[in-house]
Amino acid sequence: MKRVLITGAAGFLGSHLCDRFIKEGFQVVAMDNLITGNIKNIEHLFPLKEFEFYNHDVSNYVHVAGNLDYILHFASPASPIDYLKIPIQTLKVGSLGTHNLLGLAKAKGARMLIASTSEVYGDPAVHPQTESYWGNVNPIGPRGVYDEAKRFQEAITMAYHTYHNVETRIVRIFNTYGPRMRLNDGRVLPAFIGQALRGEDLTVFGDGSQTRSFCYVDDLVEGIFRLLFSDYAYPVNIGNPDEITIGDFAEEIIKLTGTKQKVIYKDLPTDDPTQRQPNIDKAIEILNWKPKVNRAEGLKITYEYFKSLSEEELYKKDHNDFEGYIRK
Ligand code: UDP
Repeated sequence: MKRVLITGAAGFLGSHLCDRFIKEGFQVVAMDNLITGNIKNIEHLFPLKEFEFYNHDVSNYVHVAGNLDYILHFASPASPIDYLKIPIQTLKVGSLGTHNLLGLAKAKGARMLIASTSEVYGDPAVHPQTESYWGNVNPIGPRGVYDEAKRFQEAITMAYHTYHNVETRIVRIFNTYGPRMRLNDGRVLPAFIGQALRGEDLTVFGDGSQTRSFCYVDDLVEGIFRLLFSDYAYPVNIGNPDEITIGDFAEEIIKLTGTKQKVIYKDLPTDDPTQRQPNIDKAIEILNWKPKVNRAEGLKITYEYFKSLSEEELYKKDHNDFEGYIRK
């Protein structure tokens, strides 16, 4: 039985990866310090003998007893509002955390895949974004703590690959959504659906002309799975190229939920990228991968998930103190 370490295992993506690797017959060593993750996302796996969980911050030395065949590094705050709240931890988990895990991969002879991001392209001057584009990042802006940590993460990963012959894989993840996203993580999809469910107006930041391209989580997981088992060590974009403006997205959510509320406009956060769309030619060519779930289908499933949450969850306002904090 192959054994895989998944960091950020209690988070949105990490928990879906745990499910997939268990389903594929792996032993899963799950690690999370639960600062943004939620143990509820993985508690259904606890009874399984193939599943172990460690509450640990990977920015500190990581010890795992026994063999490891694969390491997937998915620990990191991932929502702008989270990394503004915990900027130093965000920098540390992308840099020190990645260094610790690369050391572990080297010691165990494991292959390591890191979760990079479309944020390495910053506010991109090239559209759609190809892997060969170097990006346009403000290192000292509020998002710099995430973007630069992820850029460093890619650099150190390539260095371990080149100088220590560690087998590495780099996935650049574009906006992904689905069940288990945190309703209050501040990102646009849970924000809009949460507002609709609470009978509040939908808050569009800026004039709503900025674009994003949303990928359903199952498609992303499939892409990651294929990349891990490919022999390609350079970055690969995984995302759904179906691009939409945030204004039109708000209208879609209004239709989906049937809410009587309207759109209201708020200031655009500092350094908010004006456009984002993955070029996925590489994923198609190397991984024979393409997203399969269209936005209408994916949103329906995700809406059902958010509807099933408790009242308490719906009204939990864990990030409201940051209202205005990141605005110009
Ligand atoms: N956004 C918005 N209203 C919200 C939350 C976000 O209009 O309540 C916008 C945000 O300014 C950005 C886009 O939606 O342009 C996506 O933001 P998100 O935080 O989901 O992720 P990002 O892609 O910026 O990392």
